[in-house]
Amino acid sequence: MKTLSNPRMAGLDSEGSPIEGFGETVLTPDEQQALLEARTVIRGEPAQRRESYDYLLTKGIADCDGCAYDLAGGRVHAEAAPGYRCLPPTEHRPSCGAIRMDADRLETAVAEQVLADMLRPGRHEELLRLQRDAGEEAERLARHIDGAEARFAALKAVRDQMLPDAFKAAEKATKNDVAAARTRLRFLQQIISVPLSDPHDVVAWWNAAPRASQRALILLSVTKVHVLASGSGRGHDPHKRIRIDWRNS
Ligand SMILES: [Zn+2]
Repeated sequence: MKTLSNPRMAGLDSEGSPIEGFGETVLTPDEQQALLEARTVIRGEPAQRRESYDYLLTKGIADCDGCAYDLAGGRVHAEAAPGYRCLPPTEHRPSCGAIRMDADRLETAVAEQVLADMLRPGRHEELLRLQRDAGEEAERLARHIDGAEARFAALKAVRDQMLPDAFKAAEKATKNDVAAARTRLRFLQQIISVPLSDPHDVVAWWNAAPRASQRALILLSVTKVHVLASGSGRGHDPHKRIRIDWRNS
């Protein structure tokens, strides 16, 4: 556990920022944070960060319908309930900052729609097909990642014949390609891990499932959850505040 809490296990430097070109990591930065918080709880010390809520719809699942920027999870103040919000604009991110919704309301509404969608005629077969496709792509990607070492070696073999800048660019492109393949593979593995034997069992499964598995089911059935502003009487029904893009391929 002590080894795992070393930031480098998540490819992070001592400041907690991702190390460029670190390659495969044992933990994602989120998993690393969860582990650190779990450790702190075990030791009975106050958590370094108040934030320990595991948001279901961050990491690019939910966005702001107004400006299309992804929503962030957070609390208004330490004692407030967890919520999602569109972040205020910065120099590099012209987001609108106008959307806010309680995590409990948003996550419950999305889960209800996702579970209901699974019972739609034909949808179960479609999700099984998506899972099969994900499995095939994952196998291809795993082979591609396995071949990375050979591709780096081949590149090094011709290094002397290349201009230094060209070599650097090629090396960076190869690294980026492997990193992208790993990210995609991780996503596919989450999708593959959702048990889909009987759609009627999914509700019971959902209630007992760990957060990561719930998120995997959302990722399998949804490409994006758009959260609308709470205007024109939409405020009271959480379902009127969301618009879901369902995954078809
Ligand atoms: Zn916005």
